[in-house]
Amino acid sequence: MKKSGLLTFLIFAAMIAGGLIGEFVFYEGVSGALSEHWTKSAGEILLIRPLMLLIIPVVFVSVIVGVTSIGDPTRLGVVGGSTILYYLVTMLISVTIGVTLVSTFRPGDLPAQEQTQLTTEAAQHYESSEIKATIDTAEQEERVSLTRAFLEVIKQLLPRNIIEEMAGNRTLGVIIFALLLGLALAAGGEHTLPAVRFFEAMFDALMRLVLWIIWLTPIGVFFLVAWTVGNIGFENIIGPISKYIVVVLVGLAIHGIIVLPVILAILTRKNPFRFMWQMRRALMTAFGTDSSSATLPITIECAVTEGGCSKRSANFVLPLGATVNMDGTALYEAVAVIFLFQLYGIDLSFGQLLIVAITATLAAIGAAGIPSAGLIMMVIVIHAVNTSLAGTGKELPMEAIGVVIGVDRIVDMCRTTVNVWGDAVGAKIITRIAPDDPEIEDVATD
Ligand code: ASP
Repeated sequence: MKKSGLLTFLIFAAMIAGGLIGEFVFYEGVSGALSEHWTKSAGEILLIRPLMLLIIPVVFVSVIVGVTSIGDPTRLGVVGGSTILYYLVTMLISVTIGVTLVSTFRPGDLPAQEQTQLTTEAAQHYESSEIKATIDTAEQEERVSLTRAFLEVIKQLLPRNIIEEMAGNRTLGVIIFALLLGLALAAGGEHTLPAVRFFEAMFDALMRLVLWIIWLTPIGVFFLVAWTVGNIGFENIIGPISKYIVVVLVGLAIHGIIVLPVILAILTRKNPFRFMWQMRRALMTAFGTDSSSATLPITIECAVTEGGCSKRSANFVLPLGATVNMDGTALYEAVAVIFLFQLYGIDLSFGQLLIVAITATLAAIGAAGIPSAGLIMMVIVIHAVNTSLAGTGKELPMEAIGVVIGVDRIVDMCRTTVNVWGDAVGAKIITRIAPDDPEIEDVATD
């Protein structure tokens, strides 16, 4: 068996074994001691931390290499513009799928008894969750409004201290700085060439590091899946909440298995499922870690070495994508918020559904690529809809989020996989505009 085949097999086996062990050995109930179980720490120490260690160096170096290899600022403008257009269009499509499904199947319209059961339990889950503290602080500091959230993103786009941004793991600022430095290095010509070569060599070295760390994936994924399933338990996804989970998963499947592949096939004339297979290690890591940022080093490695993406495209599209392009999160935000309004008996007008669609997209752009980031950003969407309902006495209480907290990790695994898949499809599409070697790219037929 080839090395990559063995690794795929090990990650897959680890997922299944983790799920089974979680369900049959560790499961103790939703609010039991499992929320801080040792399996979670083991997964974090063995996989998440080593991957996190690589994020900032990989983002910094890969964006510089991407920009210097594109070189010409006009060309960079075309690549950047097309990338952002791709991000926005695909996120809006995924949100539309979410809004349509949730409004058609109405998972929140449950029999009165189940409705009361879910909303009563929600309050308890919310009170005892770590997320409550984060949301409370955000509310106190008035950070839940859309304007404030926007301001935060703008601040990150204009960093004042790059070391501070790096230390705070805020990739947006690092990307901006790397972009500017890359442009300056490209403009420097012969004089700055040694530095360009230095970053290219650094990029190769970092990819070697990723190739070593990737072997930790099976073991890390095993512990993380065991913890997730042990913490939630298959039983709890079968209850009244199951309709909501099914709507999110069907939406994600439509977007990930139909929409994105169709876009990819039309724009590149390549087999999208072959590309999906080439990206499998990144997709499985995303599923196991719930984090597009932690997966980023592996996404870049897969895209460049196996997926036939150019460095010019992947090094630029993927780091930015891991931060801002979240198709899965956008869809999930829309479904979850509308579901909660349905559950609490509040009907939303077309205008309010539009508010959800727009704010869900913005919330997904602002969400960090870490576990449960989408759950916290949901506050912004709820807040925006509540503002439009002000005076009607029909606002959604924040504790409603407690309804979905319990099963969020499972949903997060799936939406993160779609997030990473959306980035990879973007990198493949942009490879057409920015191939590393135009002649090779033109004859390539995968
Ligand atoms: N976990 C997701 C990601 O890293 C973000 C989210 O919570 O939706 O892409």
